[in-house]
Amino acid sequence: MIQDVQKIAQALIQSRYPVALTGAGISTESGVPDFRGQAGLWQDEDAVELLSLTTLYGDPQRFYSKGLSLLQVFRGKSPNAAHRALARLEELGLIRCVITQNIDGLHQAAGSQNVLEIHGNLRTSSCVICHAVFPFEFVEKAASEGQIPPKCPKCGGTVRPDVVFFGDDMTSDFGRAVEECSRADFMLIIGSSLQVAPAAYLPGMVPRIAIINLDETPYDESAEVVIHAKAGTVLPELVRVVEQDPSLKRRQR
Ligand code: NAD
Repeated sequence: MIQDVQKIAQALIQSRYPVALTGAGISTESGVPDFRGQAGLWQDEDAVELLSLTTLYGDPQRFYSKGLSLLQVFRGKSPNAAHRALARLEELGLIRCVITQNIDGLHQAAGSQNVLEIHGNLRTSSCVICHAVFPFEFVEKAASEGQIPPKCPKCGGTVRPDVVFFGDDMTSDFGRAVEECSRADFMLIIGSSLQVAPAAYLPGMVPRIAIINLDETPYDESAEVVIHAKAGTVLPELVRVVEQDPSLKRRQR
């Protein structure tokens, strides 16, 4: 594994505009289940149906009882060694931005500054009519008090979590992610099955990619390095290798 880590370190140091793309796998070591990993939420077919626009608008009672409690598993967790290592790579100037499919907020909690949350977040909710923004807790409180769907105090419209559910449009961060990918010359992909569109198209925009993921992905053959191991083991090692590399100092000058 060490040679592959060294190859990624070199690629990061030599790249002009390296970016990272992360998925649910970077957070499993924080106790957040992924979708398609071995103990993933996908095993429960209901997860897809529950976290969909069909349920949110067509069966709000079900969404705000079962769907909302499913979202709770993503909340209140702490960043792990992989999140912290990625934040350190950004601090060293070796990652320009983190494009994440995750909604758990753990990159920001670890200190990453430039994070694009293409599938939304669990910090806020907003009105579908007047777009007023509220804390996420607003919908939780309304639902617990039996106000389903939650109503906007300003205009009476429906307030919903700012998460991209199945059937939703992508966030404005997705447009920014596309711009970042068109600028990037190297992408480090961590903990994603690369099966969820349109996020899965992003690696195809970048000339050089490397993958750190437990299972195989459809991009393994086009990646210049693939490491099938835990992100929480590989990324701290990557930081150790780049920090010892004399060419890092030359790059930073
Ligand atoms: P995915 O579940 O489809 O794939 C996760 C991948 O991570 C798997 O291939 C698995 O082998 C790998 N993995 C698991 N643990 C790992 C580890 N410790 N180190 C390295 N790799 C590991 O995830 P996805 O591609 O992000 O797609 C899932 C969708 O569901 C996303 O769009 C996301 O919005 C949502 N989701 C988010 C979270 C979260 O916010 N943490 C969690 C589950 C699902």
